[in-house]
This record gives sequence, structure tokens and C-alpha cells, in this order.
Amino acid sequence: MNWSERSRHAVWHPCTQMKVHEQFPPRAIVAAEGPWLIDDQGHRILDAVSSWWVNLFGHNFAPIREAITDQLHRLDHTMLAGLTHPPVVELSERLAALTGLGHAFYASDGASATEIALKMSAHSWRNQGRPGKHRFIGLQGGYHGETAGALSVTDIPLFREAYAPLLRLSATLPSPDPRRAAPGVLAAEHLQHCVAALEAYLVEHHAHTAAFIMEPLVQGAAGMAMHDAAYLVAVRELCTRFNVHWIADEIAVGFGRTGTLFAHQQALGADGQPVRPDFICLSKGLTGGVLPLSCVLTTDAVYDAFWHDHTTHGFLHSHSYTGNPLACRAALAVLDTFEARDTQGLGVLDHNRVAAARFNALAEPLTRHPRVKAHRHLGMVWAWDIDVGEPTFAARFHRAAMDEGLLLRPIGHTLYAMPPYVLTEADQRHLIDGCLRVLDRVLPECDALAGSPVATPTDRPLNMA
Ligand SMILES: *Cc1c(COP(=O)(O)O)cnc(C)c1O
Repeated sequence: MNWSERSRHAVWHPCTQMKVHEQFPPRAIVAAEGPWLIDDQGHRILDAVSSWWVNLFGHNFAPIREAITDQLHRLDHTMLAGLTHPPVVELSERLAALTGLGHAFYASDGASATEIALKMSAHSWRNQGRPGKHRFIGLQGGYHGETAGALSVTDIPLFREAYAPLLRLSATLPSPDPRRAAPGVLAAEHLQHCVAALEAYLVEHHAHTAAFIMEPLVQGAAGMAMHDAAYLVAVRELCTRFNVHWIADEIAVGFGRTGTLFAHQQALGADGQPVRPDFICLSKGLTGGVLPLSCVLTTDAVYDAFWHDHTTHGFLHSHSYTGNPLACRAALAVLDTFEARDTQGLGVLDHNRVAAARFNALAEPLTRHPRVKAHRHLGMVWAWDIDVGEPTFAARFHRAAMDEGLLLRPIGHTLYAMPPYVLTEADQRHLIDGCLRVLDRVLPECDALAGSPVATPTDRPLNMA
């Protein structure tokens, strides 16, 4: 048996109906170079989703590899309770300088960062004599991870429904995604309507609300739904006015994905300075997609609420691998890469702007494709809503794209690209040309199936996030 066959017997794959692998076994990847994955048959596959939105500078990126290797020879791991080490100190100081949030708490994945932010928020209110402030608010289509606490602020029914009895659901408020505007309502009016809804909710419920959690600028799992930065300015103002924490989940959008180092930094307050959340959750790109690490950054005010003579006033949350030194070194290499300048004084974000403009030009035939009914672009995220009714579109597209040497996983009818920042022009062409060929092949299949009353079990949609 080859790796694919052995895997589908022994490995329970994430976000997957395993029965589907009976017919379509998972591709076995044995090597990677830059944005390319290489399978056990020697096929090259362009990683156009950055391996679930984590990879920034391609695979096998020398600065990260060397930082980890160097650290491995010094200190592999040590617990972080009662002990500390240089990489975690340096990383925390640098993240504080970049965000203005001076207290960094670590975990190993994004969902745990969400859990930490929720627990820290409610506990800080309790420590301040406000134990009634323990409820949360999320947004329609919001995604914050899949542990029980994170699922309770996630509004993706596909991931949540089976566990509904296990969760204490948060309030879900309207998303500023302009596609959700009522017919005839302009995007700016829709945004104001969403702000008004948040205000109305807070007027009534602020005394019981600990925090509002949201993904700034791009709601990833909702299908790369994008909104205007003006929404964040209003959120900051309302959360301050009603004494509710604002948790910015930058797990997917952090580290240059939206064009600025952090997405919320595109929202400028009345003083002309970027708005500042009370909590920032980071993961995914934090280590350039190489090692698991997540981080919650917060303010002096939250930190001070835990400063006390009693142990139980402290934040007693912990994970075994909290602040792993190898992962912290990878994160430091990521920050170094963002700070580096070429001979013309240009950094990663400048190069991304140039690469994005080139990609937009190359993507014209896709953007203008007769079956693309809407398209969006921000920073290094692109999305095209395809006019297709057949629910198996995403799974079919994914499989056909693999045959074209492309890793793409549409969400419902939304095709998106979230590639590493290092695509050459040839890589970009491969991506666009591949998408066009896959659409040509898959849309007729989907059109033939649409309306057909009988679907075979393998025609059911894969859970494509
Ligand atoms: C991926 C993601 C998470 C969860 O991170 P995991 O590491 O998968 O647990 C949370 N929030 C957002 C916005 C994400 O994209």
C-alpha cells in the first residue's frame, strides 16, 4: 500500500468525511520548495491556499529553517511556568512594540488563542467586581476555531450544528459583509446598519457582555467576506463607550495578509492613529506556517486586573508547550523578514503590493469570466463568487485543481486564492490559467447535475473550508 492508502486507514483527517477518501485518497506530500508541494509521484502542486492560510514565505524558507536549527542546538523546549527563555522574551517585546499591547500569553493553535482571550476577558471583569460580564458577541459568518469555547462564538453551522448541545452560544450580530445588504441597500448604508445593530445590542446587554470578538477586514471561513475598515473604527468607539472588550482575531489576517502587518491597523481613529483592540489573537502566519504557535496580546488594563496577592486572581490557564522556543525563533525570523529592506529600501509589504497588482492584471480573464458574479481582493487575498447552484462544486473544483497542479479549496461557491507571498509571475500564471481550465471542466459537470434529483453519496459536498 502506498502512503495515500495507508493514510486513509490509519489517519483520521481533519475537516473530512473519511468515506470520501475511499474513492479519492489523500495526496501524499513528501517534499516542498517555495510555494510548491511535491507528492510521492513527483507531481508539483502550487500551494495557493498557503496550506490552510499559514504559510507566508513559501515552504523550506531558509531564514526560518536556520533560526529553528540554531535554536535546536541551544534549547529545544522548556516549560514556561516559573521559567523563561530568550526567544519568548524577545518575541513578546517585539510584538508589544508592533501592536501597543504589552502582555503576551502563548498557546499552540488558533482555537486556544480564542479560548484564552474569552477566558481572560470574562475573568478580568470578575476580578474587577463585575462577575455578571461573562457573555460574548460574535458576527454572522464569524470563525474563531473549533474547540467548544471557540465554536460558541463561531457562526458556521456546518462546523457547529452537531455540537450545539455542548455550547453556550454567543449573540450573533449582522456582518458588515456588503453581500449581506438587503436588496437596494448600499454597502455604506449596510455598514451603518451593522454598527447600529451592535449599538442597540450593547445598550441593552452591556452589563452582561464581556467582549465582542471578530475577524478584522476579512471573515475567512465565511468565504473571504470583506468589509470596510470604517466598521472597526465604529467597533472601537462602541466597545469603549459600553465598557466591553474588543477581541481582534487576527489569526488568519495578521502578518501582512491584508496589506498591513495587522489588519486592524488599517482603521484610523479620530486622532489619525490606528485603532487599538483590547485583545489580539495571532497564530497561522506567526511562525510563517512552519511550527504551531499562537499568542494573545492584551492591554495593561486587562493585565492589571489579575495583579493580586491571591493565586486565584491570576490567570491560571496553561498549555504544555506554551511559548515553545523553536516556534518563538520561527516567529522572530518572520518578524525579521518583515523588517528587512532590499537595496531600494522596499520590504515584504511593498513587494506584496507590486505582486498583487501584477496578479490582478493576470487574473482579468478570471475576474471577467461570465460565471463570476462577484470578486474581491485585499492585500494577498482574492475571492471570486461563482454562479453555480450545484453543492458539489467546491469538492469537484478541488479535485480537478489537484490534477492541474493546484491546491485550491473553494468555500461553497466562492473560489479563493490566499497564496504564499513568494509567487513568481510564472506561478501566478499557473494559478490563473489552472483556475480557468478547471472552471471549464467543472462547470459543465455541475450544470448537468444541478436540478438532478438523485445525488449519489460521493456527490455530497466535502466540508470544504
Ligand atoms: C484558523 C482560524 C482559527 C483557528 O485556528 P486553529 O489553529 O485552526 O485552531 C481561529 N480564527 C480564525 C480567524 C482562523 O482563521
